[in-house]
Amino acid sequence: MTIPFDDIGPTKILQLHAPRIPMRAVVVIDNTARGPALGGIRVSPRVGVEEVARLARTMTFKSALADLPHGGGKAGIIADPRAPNIELIFRTFARLIKNLTEYIPAPDMGCHEDAMAWIQDEIGRVAGLPEEIGGLPLDKLGATGHGLAECAEVACAHAGLDLAGARVAIQGFGSVGKAAARFLAAKGAMIVAVSDSRGAVYQPGGLDVTQLLAVKKETGRIAAGGAGQVLPGEELFQVDCDILVPAATPDVIHEGNAGAIKARLILQGANIPATARAEQILAERGVLLVPDFIANAGGLIMAALEYARRSEAEAFAAITDKIRANTRLILDKARSEGILPRAAAESIARERVVKAMRFREYTYT
Ligand code: NAD
Repeated sequence: MTIPFDDIGPTKILQLHAPRIPMRAVVVIDNTARGPALGGIRVSPRVGVEEVARLARTMTFKSALADLPHGGGKAGIIADPRAPNIELIFRTFARLIKNLTEYIPAPDMGCHEDAMAWIQDEIGRVAGLPEEIGGLPLDKLGATGHGLAECAEVACAHAGLDLAGARVAIQGFGSVGKAAARFLAAKGAMIVAVSDSRGAVYQPGGLDVTQLLAVKKETGRIAAGGAGQVLPGEELFQVDCDILVPAATPDVIHEGNAGAIKARLILQGANIPATARAEQILAERGVLLVPDFIANAGGLIMAALEYARRSEAEAFAAITDKIRANTRLILDKARSEGILPRAAAESIARERVVKAMRFREYTYT
């Protein structure tokens, strides 16, 4: 498979293989004109180069829009995150990227802070460390969920919705989904449906977020606790709600289900959760969509500030300021130019990256 090049990247694609472990991985450095690429490691038996390349591009745009001194990159380790030798897999991955200094790894799906600590131990270059060794535990603190709630407030005003009392459905109840539920509920939103990989729960009158968190912690299954009506996971996209937050895997909103979505506002908690065609269908139906590289930038902003040795309070303040300002910026631009919010965000990000590239030679380390 060949990954297409365009005017900004990708600049480097690596396939790593340590057969005796075994450890197999892909790293894509999309663009580093603004600084070293900061991007998560996705651990999944199904992750592949195409997905990693798309995610790496998302990181380039996310960093540029958040005005961080970083470029975009991403890694995928092809493994079960629960593999008994997962520490060895991470340590081997770290040793193999030791000299790839233009890439700073961070957590993504299938990763946890301990894994970042193992990488730090091997190569001393990582973000998303446990607090015991100086990190800002972005998943535990809910950096991305906090950013999504700030984004929701601005986008709701734009869409003529009131966040207080708005009905929210969240796909995925991991780090992002759980924190989004907490922070959105704290702003008065009503969480009516939540799903994980094993099913969904729906309660039109509102679910109790504290109870959901406890059920997930105790059983590992959101649908196990009797909090509401149990539905197959896919039906989450059809429930009656005002705001939909996909916070799980790529391309879950597609041509086949975009027409049935009832929400008026979609905040992309996950990276690349909708196909291009689905985003077009949603726009034609008048659904407002805030793309991933604006809505879910909270985790990246906190990771970048941790790397720059800044405090938790500074990170939260930066997330609030940057995400609110960017949501307003791209929604206003989209409205005034009659374009999709994604196109508005991409054009701003691309312009910043291209400008930085003028100052750099071929390799941007
Ligand atoms: P996670 O591994 O903590 O949680 C993922 C959740 O999605 C789990 O609850 C899992 O059960 C669920 N899930 C998987 N497949 C599903 C399906 N088909 N239907 C419903 N639920 C499903 O991962 P995370 O860190 O929460 O990341 C989720 C998404 O958000 C990813 O796309 C990631 O790239 C993106 N993201 C994460 C962060 C962050 O701060 N962690 C920041 C920006 C973007």
